[in-house]
Amino acid sequence: MCRDRLAVDGRTLICPLGHRFDLARQGYAPLLSGRGRAHRSDTAPMVAARRRILDAGVFAAVQRELAAHTDPASSSIVDAGAGTGHYLASVLDAAPEAHGIGIDLSKYCARACARASERAISVVADLWEGLPVRSGTADAVLSVFAPRNLAETARILAPGGRWLIVTPNPGHLHQVREELGMLRIGAEKLERLHRDLAGGGFVVNAAVPVVSTVVLTAARLADLAGMGPAGHHRTESELAAAAAHVAGAAGEHPVTLDVTLTVAHVDRPHDRS
Ligand SMILES: [Zn+2]
Repeated sequence: MCRDRLAVDGRTLICPLGHRFDLARQGYAPLLSGRGRAHRSDTAPMVAARRRILDAGVFAAVQRELAAHTDPASSSIVDAGAGTGHYLASVLDAAPEAHGIGIDLSKYCARACARASERAISVVADLWEGLPVRSGTADAVLSVFAPRNLAETARILAPGGRWLIVTPNPGHLHQVREELGMLRIGAEKLERLHRDLAGGGFVVNAAVPVVSTVVLTAARLADLAGMGPAGHHRTESELAAAAAHVAGAAGEHPVTLDVTLTVAHVDRPHDRS
């Protein structure tokens, strides 16, 4: 609200001006100001499906690539749109001294994220209202399948800090997208991201393709759809029926992860001297 620093006082976060936020019983900090627009956030069943998918290692290739692009000397890593905290935990494993801040709009995500790593704290906040992080303090910001607030990310990144962005390519999960009611991925998505980054004062250091094929059971196929927007549009039994149809007699079906990890930093001309 005032953007000043928050200190922990028992179960309360308090700023020098006296703004107070009580920590939730489940361990996260609810920092929604209540002024924001109403965005649809992930529901409990969607988050449970996502936890099962990530616990099963379906996105392990993405977690590995994020960890490989993490500076092991990082001290502060922010996951903006942290979901269950799985990606933040992978990155913290690669940076043994770092502390993490996982931010998500969904309290169900925040509950999971609060348990993801002993070195991470979990915050409920709206990315579009601003990231509740002090300026110039983040050695890395993660945006994994998440909305991106360019101005706020530029503000919180420390000099030399990296933005690690994961976006799906048109071929992502192509074997099952249509049958499981998942949204189509536009072919221009990556181009548009890189154009937006340049317009927002970022330089792209790398764009790394991550492709990995995994074989999923009908139950995991239903989770794969249910953890995303299809979880808002279809009931669990509709998704289970569609997944059973995809899996067929074999009871399982291969799906290909096809994403790009984009690594960017803020272009600060005066830092170059
Ligand atoms: Zn305050």
